[in-house]
Amino acid sequence: MLPLRSATLEERRRYYREEWDKRELPSFILHTLSLREFGFDHDGSGPSDRYNQFTTVEQLSDFLRNRAPYAVYGSVALYERPSERKGWLKSELVFDVDAKDLPIKSCDCSGGKVCEKCLEDARRITAMFGEALRSDLALREIYYVYSGRGFHIRVFDESVMKMGPTERGQVVEYITGGVIPTDMTMALGYSSIFRKRISRVFEMLDEKRLAKSGIATAAARKLMKEKEKVLVALRRGRMDEIESLEGIGEKTIERLLQFLARLNSEMVDGKVTIDTKRILRLPSSLHSAVSMKCVLIKDIESFCPEDAIPKFVLERGA
Ligand SMILES: [Zn+2]
Repeated sequence: MLPLRSATLEERRRYYREEWDKRELPSFILHTLSLREFGFDHDGSGPSDRYNQFTTVEQLSDFLRNRAPYAVYGSVALYERPSERKGWLKSELVFDVDAKDLPIKSCDCSGGKVCEKCLEDARRITAMFGEALRSDLALREIYYVYSGRGFHIRVFDESVMKMGPTERGQVVEYITGGVIPTDMTMALGYSSIFRKRISRVFEMLDEKRLAKSGIATAAARKLMKEKEKVLVALRRGRMDEIESLEGIGEKTIERLLQFLARLNSEMVDGKVTIDTKRILRLPSSLHSAVSMKCVLIKDIESFCPEDAIPKFVLERGA
């Protein structure tokens, strides 16, 4: 069972004094430490203490042990002068998949809660996006981080690190299938990645969920009744086959595609990706709201959130 309750100040102090280990900082942080801006949340109200710079890992270590912050963040950007957030050099390309914000889950969590099931949903989505970055966009320096309540993908290929917000936004749309393509692939039944994304999310729908699409009730019922046929047609990009179903017109298909694309776009927090000055939770630090560690993941396929339970929680007892 995951802890998923907040850590007390005493537990935070204990974590940073006895358990936190600089060797759990990823090499991508260690090698660029002095070029990053660090942000801290000292009381759970948000990261208001920003513009911090550490020139050595010992300085960071001392700060953490002395202050035991509620949350620790580091910038995705590298700066010449991080303590002023000036002299921007480049930024990682990041994707934020938060289990609490997934548009479709296999559990009933709501109101910012997460459980093993939606964390597993988030892990699968993260692995799927990472695989597309690798196989489709030929990116190579991809790292995965468990944030405590979801996952981050952090990409370091030089080709993406200099990208501005607009291009980053296009990468998110492409990888998630979050926007209906309006290029020439539209006439040809869309690109394979878009077809894959919309058919995956369609497969997870039921009548109740489809009702939120704005499609008329009778048409929605028909689409669900013929789910297998519609799924095959979406996978093949044959919208005409869906339109040949009784009671399904062009308008319904348009609404369906818009709904599926919108659900896809909600799989990640797109605002995080386009923000080149964003700060992200620091791997090795404590996510105090859920008493879980934020950790660098060795293998996203086999990762299990139980690997991120701090020792003080195991010793808490029931
Ligand atoms: Zn859940």
